[in-house]
Amino acid sequence: MTEFKREGSHLFSTPPVEKWDDWTELDPGAWPRRVQKHYSLVPTICFNCESACGLLAYVNKETGRIDKFEGNPLHPASRGRLCAKGPATITQIHDPDRILYPMKRVGPRGGGKWARTSWDEVLETFGSRIRKAFQEKRGEEVMYHVGRPGHDFIMERTLQAWGIDGHNSHTNVCSSSARLGYLLWHHADRPSPDHANARFILLLSAHLESGHYFNPHAQRIIEGKMAGAKLAVMDPRLSNTASMADYWMPSYPGTEAAVLLAMAVVILGEKRFDAEFVKNWTNWEELEVDGFSAKGQSFDALIEALKRHYAKFTPEFAEKESGVKAEVIVKTAREIATAGSRFASHLWRGSSSGNLGGWQSARALTLLHVLTGSVGTPGGHNLNAWNKFVPRPYKNPPPQKRWNELLYPREWPLCVHEMSPVLPHMLKEGRGRIEAYFTRVFNPVWTYPDGFSWIEMLRDEEKVGLHAALTPTWSETAWFADYVLPMGFSSERHDLMSQESYAGKWIGFRQPVLRVLQEREGKKFDYTYQANPGEVWEEDEFWINLSWAIDPDGSMGIRQWFESPYPERAGQKLTVDEYYGWMFENSVPGLPAAAAKEGLKPLEYMRKYGAYEVTTDVHRLNEKPVAAADLSGSEVGTNGVVSKNGKAVGVMVGGEAVVGYNTPSRKLELFSKTMADWKWPEFVLPEYYRSHIHKSAQAASLGSEGGKAADDFDSRYIPLVEWPKDARGEVLTLLPIFRLPHLIHTRSGNSKFLYEIAHKNPLWVNPTDAVKLGNIRTGDLIKVHTEIGFFVLHAWVTEGLAPGVVACSHHMGRWRTNKEDQLERMSSAWVDLKEVGKGQWKMRQTSGVEPYETTDPDTKRVWWSDAGVHQNITFPVHPDPITGMHCWHQMVRVERASAEDRYGDIFVDTNLSFAVYQRWKALARPAPGPGGLRRPLWIPRVHRPEEAAYYIHSDQS
Ligand code: SF4
Repeated sequence: MTEFKREGSHLFSTPPVEKWDDWTELDPGAWPRRVQKHYSLVPTICFNCESACGLLAYVNKETGRIDKFEGNPLHPASRGRLCAKGPATITQIHDPDRILYPMKRVGPRGGGKWARTSWDEVLETFGSRIRKAFQEKRGEEVMYHVGRPGHDFIMERTLQAWGIDGHNSHTNVCSSSARLGYLLWHHADRPSPDHANARFILLLSAHLESGHYFNPHAQRIIEGKMAGAKLAVMDPRLSNTASMADYWMPSYPGTEAAVLLAMAVVILGEKRFDAEFVKNWTNWEELEVDGFSAKGQSFDALIEALKRHYAKFTPEFAEKESGVKAEVIVKTAREIATAGSRFASHLWRGSSSGNLGGWQSARALTLLHVLTGSVGTPGGHNLNAWNKFVPRPYKNPPPQKRWNELLYPREWPLCVHEMSPVLPHMLKEGRGRIEAYFTRVFNPVWTYPDGFSWIEMLRDEEKVGLHAALTPTWSETAWFADYVLPMGFSSERHDLMSQESYAGKWIGFRQPVLRVLQEREGKKFDYTYQANPGEVWEEDEFWINLSWAIDPDGSMGIRQWFESPYPERAGQKLTVDEYYGWMFENSVPGLPAAAAKEGLKPLEYMRKYGAYEVTTDVHRLNEKPVAAADLSGSEVGTNGVVSKNGKAVGVMVGGEAVVGYNTPSRKLELFSKTMADWKWPEFVLPEYYRSHIHKSAQAASLGSEGGKAADDFDSRYIPLVEWPKDARGEVLTLLPIFRLPHLIHTRSGNSKFLYEIAHKNPLWVNPTDAVKLGNIRTGDLIKVHTEIGFFVLHAWVTEGLAPGVVACSHHMGRWRTNKEDQLERMSSAWVDLKEVGKGQWKMRQTSGVEPYETTDPDTKRVWWSDAGVHQNITFPVHPDPITGMHCWHQMVRVERASAEDRYGDIFVDTNLSFAVYQRWKALARPAPGPGGLRRPLWIPRVHRPEEAAYYIHSDQS
């Protein structure tokens, strides 16, 4: 907190904590009169992205209403700073169109008729349906599918208490690809860069403005820059981030790994690598490649073998593939080598999520860290697991016994997360059904590719028996639910959060502000919905109560996990205070003592401050000695791995037993035996191979039509694009996944502040492509053909994008089929949606955004009319053959729109999208792996079943 003192007055950048109970400000609306407003300030956690920044809710003491949100200066990651989406929470909670009561469908699914119902009825309906499914051994038919989690561990615990393999997530349209690249090195699936202490920072994305954990990271990247660090950005778009960079490398999408490997070649060739680190901390002695075996060889021989293997990745080759100048590649490589252990980087989505084989960019990027010895160092690349803290509750159920093949099908044994983008396609193949489906802050009809296949699945009551959308806002998906259940925003719910934001570990406590404040004043509530607007609830209490509804007398063994941990209330229903209170008392090191210092209980401390820093001792944790208890009775294998009772506990390095990394070798895996064992021997080392949108794939897609040679098209990895008959125009690559920094996904739809800032998503076109397209100008209407249909939108001609590439932000194009309701009218177009043939869907905008009358006078002042165009729904699924990640970039054909085309027009044929799914699936290399395994045991799995479930039994083959 900064305090500015002037004679006669005090100015504060943020309110000091001792004044939070009665903070006074002058009412700006009363100016020039000096009218004081008194506030109670209550900390909570932002819910508008995964960063979990600290908010302070300003509750007006006179009205009891929250007037605004600002940053919590005591939150260790965000330090009082927020992006535009944090303060915009105020518009979400006061949105006049928000859902305030549980709603039940009346009439056919998707018909748009709803009636208010009670929470008791919801619990009874779902409780009895799920109980019956469990009693009939149909546990796999119960599925929870999460979009924005916003919490840690509680859902895994709930589903394991139910004994089912039922956790689905959005991660395979988000980040799984990068996760595989990272975890093959060190088991942790994300980096935690120490930007603030770095000397050189390389970002493969627009990370500074909109990437993962971007507000906490952005402020530390700027700190690093202010201390002299240089910044390089590899991104085909001149993003705001790239505009702040010392080096902008507009690489052709999908070629990033070639550039990174060329940098590695420079560092190896100029002997600027950290030989001691590579020798001590990689499994180089296991390397077998190109007929070379490192076993018994010298370290120098290994380096020579690596040089030979990567010889083709010259800067000139990388320039040819990527368009990034060879001299820039060399210069950047030298800067990275000079930064040494203070080289930080980040890669999330962008190159990894856009491309077939995108996982290799994360792997090649980590190679640069390994070569420079910048793993686990101040200013370097740390492991997310070292910077995140997830306390454990009072008792935890055992892992589930069964494996759900709708979540982890055999075709993709190395997928890091659930194969959710192909769920509708698997149901279409007859691979299962869902009896009870919970979508939670999740809107696949709009955010996923192939949304019409989701509509076809959701409206089919044979495939999905009962569907509840747990959501704070209306969404295109909620429209096809049986129940729409309103769940709270940031100030209306409990959650515990922690993220790898900097070189430290912290927890943040989201809390229902109005309930907490009234309870401080002595009022009692059974449930949070009694204090929230309408009957908006929170998931924690919903799941506890649903678990009791499934197993009311405890005979199914479920209820026991949702009973009080305190002996004086044994057997009674768990409260949220008890759930979190117990963890704060028992599972967070240092918190009870910090609370006691202030005469508070740990729960009171967290309610008062909203966050707690657990430790900043987070570097080089691989070097920690193996605990004495683990060492006693352990054995050392020939590879130096220290094991006890058949489980690895450490590794010998420099004659000492240290914990190392959670990989099979306990070292950084330069050589991945896992890839060889799982049928991908060509990828035992970090590699580059061409993406599905590479120029060679574009030429192949034209085939006989274009008459162009496509000799270098590698059909081993890349499925051939087959264009619909009416697809015409220039073949280009569409980048559909960049994020506008102030937009969320579905939840920005009810924020008037955020939509006023920007509300259109034109197609970015480079001037050279604009000429090829017939002198297209900004504002012209153009038609973009995908493999399964088309969409029509405006062009924006700009030099801020590499040639050969077009780009469109994915946060726009909301739609509603009713004029007056379903979605917030400030952010959605009213559309006419028709199924004109089996699987053939046509959407045309009837009207754009218009001003409208509500209790909020601002809705009459809406001045914009554009809601953007929904591009994602025109994309087929592209499951990467290895990671299963949806490869977002699209090969498209672009032409000037014709007289019949109108802005926002969309057409999709789901028969074609199903065919594309099958072409991609055919390139996967399915399980079983060694010993009949479904997937490698050492690769993490969310909501992990017991080990026996990892094996495919003979009766299942
Ligand atoms: S970065 Fe912005 S949206 Fe994300 S948690 Fe922080 S304030 Fe909220």
